[in-house]
Amino acid sequence: MTKVTAQHIIKQFERWSPKNLAYDWDNVGLQVGTLNKPVENVMVTLDVLENVVDEAIEKQVDLIIAHHPLLFVKLNQINFDTPKGRVVRKLIKHDITVYAAHTNLDVAEGGVNDVMADILEVKNRKPLIETGKDELVKLTVFVPETHLEQVRESIGHAGAGYIGNYSHCTFQVSGEGTFKPQEGTTPYIGKQGELEQVDEKRVETIVPKSKLSAVLKAMEDSHPYEEVAYDLYPLLNEGQSLGVGRVGRLEQPIRLRDFVEKVKVGFDVPNLRVSGDLEKNIQTVALLGGSGEKYIHKAKASGADVYITGDMTFHMTQDAMEMGLAVIDPGHHVEKVVCSKVKQYLEEHCIGEGKLNIIISEVNTEPFTIM
Ligand SMILES: [Zn+2]
Repeated sequence: MTKVTAQHIIKQFERWSPKNLAYDWDNVGLQVGTLNKPVENVMVTLDVLENVVDEAIEKQVDLIIAHHPLLFVKLNQINFDTPKGRVVRKLIKHDITVYAAHTNLDVAEGGVNDVMADILEVKNRKPLIETGKDELVKLTVFVPETHLEQVRESIGHAGAGYIGNYSHCTFQVSGEGTFKPQEGTTPYIGKQGELEQVDEKRVETIVPKSKLSAVLKAMEDSHPYEEVAYDLYPLLNEGQSLGVGRVGRLEQPIRLRDFVEKVKVGFDVPNLRVSGDLEKNIQTVALLGGSGEKYIHKAKASGADVYITGDMTFHMTQDAMEMGLAVIDPGHHVEKVVCSKVKQYLEEHCIGEGKLNIIISEVNTEPFTIM
């Protein structure tokens, strides 16, 4: 079986978590190495610390996909006597590529914040901090009637045709398509050099730009023609809000005390820090993976009863307390819950196209021990 390239894996990954979703200050994408190489073993991790790289060397990993960028603060030298320099040296020496998906994976639908919200069963959610709007594109594709169902279903499944809570919204009209296959073609219908006329449907639908490449791939895969005729029109209609953090509601109100237990179990942490009245019921939940203390006011303004984020400091927690906003800090490290989602996504989208093994790092990069 042939091997897939790192480029191919990343292309698939970026259909879900495109780099343009990241903040400008972030440093996402390729960190060290090359994407132009075949890959057999991929490792997903939260951090690229030296012991993670040692694990990667031992497990013959070719590509590391990390949430936290390895290179974030500008390096003026790569000094092998520093921890960062040692890591870079080991990576280059063992030909291990490192790729990071940071704030883009926070913003992406189904990324870090959605995985956390799913675990805590937070429903009807929207971004806590809006970073932009998803642009909308009109897709028009010409499909022979025999394959109408197939193409419609496939693009709908990939994310086309969502209007409010309706999915698979399309419109079609019948018409006649013509084409003349030229030399070197292997047409699905017709013969080289002869003008063909085919009954076709013109299918129109709406696609968020963040899903466009996935939808186009689904369209091409399900369409019978060698060359698919389609048009893309930019729209002025406003798309969905994109952003970091999430705010939503629990199905039932729950005592803060009981919710804390749910957070501990869900994020697999034996202890956490909480501020607020433990006996009070909460229902609206805001959360932000990583360090989110600067958004306590956003969380309060969103109507949240409780805000879950990492790295809360003393004074900010006091400010939240005075605003009547309960805070749960389960640690920054709970972002690791996204690793299994990344693994699952890559398995669904890349395995089968080549020999590929995707693992999650077993190194614990949580620096704290609570004693
Ligand atoms: Zn983080």
